[in-house]
Amino acid sequence: MNKKPAHELLSLLKNKKVSAVEIVKSTYEQIEKHEKEISAYVTLTKELALKQAKAVDEGKRSGPLAGIPIAVKDNMCTKGILTTCSSKILHNYLPPYNATIVEKLEAAGAITIGKTNLDEFAMGSSTENSAIKTTKNPWNLNCVPGGSSGGSAAAVAADETVLALGSDTGGSIRQPASFCGIVGMKPTYGRVSRYGLVAFASSLDQIGPMTKDVRDCAILLNVLSGYDEKDSTSAKLEAPDYTKALIDDVKNLTVGIIDELMGEGVEGSTKEAIEKAVKLLESKGAKVKKVSLPHLKYSVATYYLIAPAEASSNLGRYDGVKYGLRSKEAKDLITMYKNTRAEGFGPEVKRRILLGTYALSAGYYDAYYLKALKVRTLIKEDFEKAFKDCDVLISPTSPIPAFKIGEKANDPLSMYLSDIATIPVNLAGLPAISIPCGFANGLPIGLQIIGKAFDEETILKAAYTYEQNTNWHKEKAEIR
Ligand code: GLN
Repeated sequence: MNKKPAHELLSLLKNKKVSAVEIVKSTYEQIEKHEKEISAYVTLTKELALKQAKAVDEGKRSGPLAGIPIAVKDNMCTKGILTTCSSKILHNYLPPYNATIVEKLEAAGAITIGKTNLDEFAMGSSTENSAIKTTKNPWNLNCVPGGSSGGSAAAVAADETVLALGSDTGGSIRQPASFCGIVGMKPTYGRVSRYGLVAFASSLDQIGPMTKDVRDCAILLNVLSGYDEKDSTSAKLEAPDYTKALIDDVKNLTVGIIDELMGEGVEGSTKEAIEKAVKLLESKGAKVKKVSLPHLKYSVATYYLIAPAEASSNLGRYDGVKYGLRSKEAKDLITMYKNTRAEGFGPEVKRRILLGTYALSAGYYDAYYLKALKVRTLIKEDFEKAFKDCDVLISPTSPIPAFKIGEKANDPLSMYLSDIATIPVNLAGLPAISIPCGFANGLPIGLQIIGKAFDEETILKAAYTYEQNTNWHKEKAEIR
């Protein structure tokens, strides 16, 4: 039961062919069987899940996701349930409140399976930066699942949950979705409330669905979307019914292939898979053209100034005073701050804080931070130009499939560069999806479809059309 997408389970539940308790039990059986190898979860909430499922079966819990298991990335606040951000500094943090999206899942009747592993504070592309454990890729246990939402992606791919939530600051939903052969969407900046998402880089962070197929993505996005007065950056716009966009038809769409993301550095079979995907859309009636986004080459550099700058400010709150870790080795306040942060943060988080503090410091602010903001505008304008005559843009989600655990762990620059295709989308605040589009040596390849701001519907339509005419999303990882 845990292997089916949510939309199939919902109709089985409706017709009383299965109970919510059965679904939850089969999900935990899978977890018991494979979690030792996969390490997707930081915390499991079995008792709560069984209680919620029982309530669904008794008709006391309802909603559009009633009875459907979901895993939540461990940087989203869950009242009374550990929320660690996979960091030592929050090892004991029990939030006194729920993130808005957690409240929405509750109202939708979803079943909380547990909290998933991530790179510490969502900083990374492999989950190797987690202070708790490294998650394994279900398709090849020697490979990373991607990151930072690697736990969520691996849990969906290994059928240790049906749905999952991720957060995406520079690719953290889409890249792990691509590495694990699932669907992952970063909605438009402002589409989904971030109230209760532990902040990494506030001008980039966005929460989104990680699912087994495009229909599930639309169903979950329906639950997550909408204005929230608790998040001042959330957009005051009606959220449409995204399932209405699931139409197998691209006849009136113009698809732009991003030239800069199809050249140097893109691994051969990835490039081939994307070209084949484009051909398929073309054969279904889409108009295809090449587009150039000349400032894209600056996006990684721009991101690694803006994101660390914001992170250095956001992470200032972890001082050992109000919550989280407090160093025992301190005789006075300043030493307590220093020791708490030295003991509590891992090396990548410290690197980002240093980078960010440097970029923001007097004398360097104009040369680095301000310049990065200006280049961000140029990147945004590149997209605007491209969207003048394209409805969606296409690229690989990642230039390479999943890499080996340890392969890039000591080479931050090479790790940073692998986010070249996802980062520009966050800088421009746009929505984008990653869907499975092939394999290279048994490892999944992801197709990225980028849309105009607040036009998730056209992305879903293109993605759905592709999915309806291919079978990649039905492939299951044989865990070994
Ligand atoms: N890999 C990128 C980083 O390390 C993006 C992470 C994210 O989207 N949270 O910053």
